[in-house]
Amino acid sequence: MTAHDAIERLREIDRELQLLEHASALLSWDEETYMPPRAIEERSEQVALLQGIIHERLASPSVAELLARAGASPERPSGDPALSESEGAFARAFFRKHGREARLPADLVIELSKAATLGQAAWRGARKRSDFSSFAPHLRKLVALTRRKTECLGYAEEPYDALIDEYEPWMKTSEVRSIFSSLEPRLARFVAEIGAARQVDDGFLRLSYPTDLQVRFASALLSGMGFDGERGRLDVSAHPFTTTLGRDDVRITARYDAGYLKTGIFSVIHECGHALYEQGFSEEIRGSLLASGTSLGIHESQSRLWENVIGRSRPFWSHYLPELAKLFPAQLSGVALDSFYRAINRVEPSLIRIEADEVTYGLHIILRFKLETALVSGDLAVDDLPDAWNREMGELLGVKPDNDAEGVLQDVHWSFGAIGYFPTYALGNLYGAQLFAAMRRELPGMDGEIARGNLAPILAWLRARVHASGATLTAGELCEKVTGETLNPDYFLRYLEEKYRPIYDL
Ligand code: MG
Repeated sequence: MTAHDAIERLREIDRELQLLEHASALLSWDEETYMPPRAIEERSEQVALLQGIIHERLASPSVAELLARAGASPERPSGDPALSESEGAFARAFFRKHGREARLPADLVIELSKAATLGQAAWRGARKRSDFSSFAPHLRKLVALTRRKTECLGYAEEPYDALIDEYEPWMKTSEVRSIFSSLEPRLARFVAEIGAARQVDDGFLRLSYPTDLQVRFASALLSGMGFDGERGRLDVSAHPFTTTLGRDDVRITARYDAGYLKTGIFSVIHECGHALYEQGFSEEIRGSLLASGTSLGIHESQSRLWENVIGRSRPFWSHYLPELAKLFPAQLSGVALDSFYRAINRVEPSLIRIEADEVTYGLHIILRFKLETALVSGDLAVDDLPDAWNREMGELLGVKPDNDAEGVLQDVHWSFGAIGYFPTYALGNLYGAQLFAAMRRELPGMDGEIARGNLAPILAWLRARVHASGATLTAGELCEKVTGETLNPDYFLRYLEEKYRPIYDL
């Protein structure tokens, strides 16, 4: 069997794995949207069964054998030099995915999944009662299992490497630490400077905005951005998300708040940014494991670039505000573009990450990164976590939670063992700003097109430069290829300065 034959056989296996993944994703999408509540028990069994089958196939010795025949090894994950570039990219992605599955013993996978289910249930109750102590034993268990997981997976420099690699493949903890330590003081200083300036008024965003009209505006936004409604749909869920159920089926959900206009609009733009990535993979990789975001950081760059950089820009609203005001004349007809623009970009240190603006957001992530790396290394005990959280909030953002529900218990991630995930949110902002700077260089007339409501050149640029290749290039390779350099936080900081100094008259 030649290396090419091995790749062919692996492609057939991959295709079936994709079909199973999409079937499993459909069950989960339904669970979050339309499933009647009492269906949950058998639904969990259905998903667990499919995930078990996927794990077994992916980790199987026959896959290991085929990867070896393709020449893939830790030193050379892209396999035999005789393979074409696209075969090599496929081998590298499959080798990494198989390796992570095969290195985890079945008993650990089962223990982790049980601890995650129990942890999440305990977290829900603990958050409701704002009682960290009832969640602490679960988190202790999850941290211990996570440490064991890092030992099984292996790592280059420190255990957290094995965790972040799940979400941001090939990224090292030391790289994240160095990026964040350059970002932190500069962000903190800028937030303080804005805090001392006169606050902008956003009261008119908090009037009554009936959600049926918000939904109507959302679908205008989707078609304006280039979302393909023949290959996807928009629904409602408690927590907005994007999921891919097939080559031609990318679903998004949004959440609307009749008393706060920002929630619905920006959740729709954000999720649509994710969906455009998923709808934009090239023909050659469609339906394969390469048809996926290359990392969560790059995925988040797409959602945040649309949501914040484009969707909260003045040209964007010079086109869309009149349309929005037609739907809500009583609330918005007297509001000038400039007031609207300032209001949607209001900056305010707050306790809750998911409500944070784009300037303070990174500090919420840096806090979580510091704490979770310390938990994994053993430098921080779970019992000391709430105090550490409150102290860091005070230092980084100058605010202190009154209780654990609006502090250490606010996010779901740790309760199901997703440690290593948080940094990707902030990396998304950084990648997004750097990609946008490259886009601006190549599309000099962009602002004029946006102001005319013509977003097609932006989507075409993103399609060609970012979306089409899917996971063929790693995040690092993509960043260098498109922007000419490795990830550099200066782009994001410059973008913030240029945007927010005028907004706050600084
Ligand atoms: Mg997102």
